[in-house]
Amino acid sequence: MQITDVKTTVLSMPHLSGIQDATIRHLEQGRTQCFVHIVTDEGLEGLGTGGGARAAREIIEGSLKPILIGQDPLNIEQLWDDMFWRIRGVGRKGLAFCALSAVDIALWDLKAKYYQTPLYKLLGPYTDTVPVYGSGGWTHFSIDELIAEQASYVERGMKSVKMKVGKDFGQSESEDIARLSAVRKALGDDVEILVDANNGYYAKQAIRMAQAFEEYNIGWFEEPVLADDIEGLAAIARATAIPIATGEHEYTKYGFKDLIARGGADIVQPDVGRVGGITEWMKVAHLAHAFNLPVAPHAYQLIHLHLSCATPNLRIVEYLGMVEEADRITYTEFSEPVNGVWSPNPDKPGLGLELNPEAVKQYAV
Ligand code: MG
Repeated sequence: MQITDVKTTVLSMPHLSGIQDATIRHLEQGRTQCFVHIVTDEGLEGLGTGGGARAAREIIEGSLKPILIGQDPLNIEQLWDDMFWRIRGVGRKGLAFCALSAVDIALWDLKAKYYQTPLYKLLGPYTDTVPVYGSGGWTHFSIDELIAEQASYVERGMKSVKMKVGKDFGQSESEDIARLSAVRKALGDDVEILVDANNGYYAKQAIRMAQAFEEYNIGWFEEPVLADDIEGLAAIARATAIPIATGEHEYTKYGFKDLIARGGADIVQPDVGRVGGITEWMKVAHLAHAFNLPVAPHAYQLIHLHLSCATPNLRIVEYLGMVEEADRITYTEFSEPVNGVWSPNPDKPGLGLELNPEAVKQYAV
């Protein structure tokens, strides 16, 4: 089998709900996403997606496509290595790695389709059912909106929810605690609450906030400080009994090696659309396993569902309502979590995802 073409589709849906967190200073409205199609001479196609929106398209079509054409798409390690060295000067972290990630995901989707099996079965499943948590709790929500959104996940049967803290770049500490307190009061003691500061505090401030959060029995404290402040993360991790979760802004096994070995993460959060695709995500999950650390993937829930089924050290899968809102428009269909757990469709090969032609017609740019 040979790759005959690499195409992209960018869908822009500016009408979708806005998001704001500790360090998104202005409400971010809508969603734009880049999809990759790996086309082969046997009629099979792989579908992938990653970060970087429209800018990723330039790297995929300009830098990666020329080295993929004519190659056997089943040789994923070799193609990954080729792509890594092709983008070495502009990649390794950031946008170029988002582009590589999208291609790698499409290669895995294609490979599973070639073997006529769902992706999680190709990866070697540990389980076919994983727990999920409802994720949102944006800082621009009023307290009533915040409670309603977090409660909506519990009403769907989820036993864990995540809300934002670090409001206004960490400048609204008492509001953070009041919002957490209100959510805890509304949801009761049986729901696990996770908090995410999206890089918004400083280390000493985060240690102080962790002490305040302890009263509300939270499951983890995510990205308390700048993702690059590994010393700060490690100091916070040592100072509190609350597990420190981080990794959504980290790239490659090399980045995660530094983060983990220096004690910066109690819970490891790779993002398949950034870290280097499925190839690299699985390596990071194994690396975390070697350090006896749990993995809790960030975003890209429909892809992480499959990878998580093949991860013995999985903690829980993030399920973002704002991503689901886009997915309902983007794809023809997908399996949904029921009572807080989620299973891939065992009858659909690959990721089991197809772009909705109506959405492509309406939103492609
Ligand atoms: Mg986060």
